[in-house]
Amino acid sequence: MDRIYDLIILGGGPGGYTAALYGARSGMDVLLLEKLSAGGQMGLSAQIDNYPGFPEGIDGFSLGQQMKEGAERFGAQTLLAEATAVSLDGPVKEIQTSEGTFRARTVILATGATPRLLGLAEEETLTGRGVNYCAACDGMFYKGKTVAVVGGGNSAVGDALLLSRVAEKVILIHRRDKLRASPVYEKALAEAKNLTILWDTTVSRLLHDQRLTGLALKNVKTGETSQLACDGVFVSIGRAPASALFRDQVTTDQAGYLQADETTRTNLPGVFAVGDVRTKPLRQVVTAVADGAVAVYYAEEYLAEHP
Ligand code: NAP
Repeated sequence: MDRIYDLIILGGGPGGYTAALYGARSGMDVLLLEKLSAGGQMGLSAQIDNYPGFPEGIDGFSLGQQMKEGAERFGAQTLLAEATAVSLDGPVKEIQTSEGTFRARTVILATGATPRLLGLAEEETLTGRGVNYCAACDGMFYKGKTVAVVGGGNSAVGDALLLSRVAEKVILIHRRDKLRASPVYEKALAEAKNLTILWDTTVSRLLHDQRLTGLALKNVKTGETSQLACDGVFVSIGRAPASALFRDQVTTDQAGYLQADETTRTNLPGVFAVGDVRTKPLRQVVTAVADGAVAVYYAEEYLAEHP
């Protein structure tokens, strides 16, 4: 409890571990707190093709481990612990966790974002019993089966394409008549013969016995209702920031993302926000990584100005 770190990082995704690498490499005393395992949400991706330096792509779990090892090579410490309360005001910041209380002069918030729920009755009870949020993790359970994917962004289309290689039949359900996803997917969508798209459609109910058996659907233009029998549904409708712990202290936008510009500085001196939890136009591994480096640059500046 007496020890005061130069820097505590909350979250072991790509932003957090890049901050740990940059901080430790520049001689800071760095502690990174991670809830589960290195990589964060990235660790759930079966294949990452848009992080440069890996011509064949790499799975997110391995990339997370490599980022962790890179930071630890320079002395950054990782502790598996869940933060339960924070006090970020003042020159010494305090983090209470499942493993004790830790103090630091600067803090980087890199807690990322978690999948958004549909908000339907019994959604949580049926999670793992037909309702899923990660195609890369759970897609293999649907080999030869029929699955639905809800959403129209890059994640939903990526998930639908991944599942089309495993499942017998994939139905992508989107609430509008145009995908939000990048046009880069159009060719692959057209070529996936077992994949169909239901446009202008929302899910109004989860049908089930012990497990999910189907979805009650509604066409938002015609008002027509229908039922779709399926073995599983993958909800892929974006993410919500993991910022609940900081919202009473750090300024957020309406959706709860921590307000910080390219400098990653928040409203609190010595507190920085990086990666998916920060307000930003593009949430990707490369942008999280860039944030981690920038945050340490400004943390060092802050420490020099507040000796
Ligand atoms: P997103 O871009 O925010 O898309 C969410 C999708 O879900 C939208 O199509 C949205 O519909 C739909 N949606 C939202 N709430 C809904 C609800 N309650 N019911 C039904 N549908 C709902 O989220 P994302 O696809 O997870 O992507 C997040 C970020 O990661 C984006 O910046 C994306 O570009 C990036 N990403 C990149 C890649 C890649 O480059 N390889 C892969 C995955 C994600 P509307 O379109 O009607 O709003």
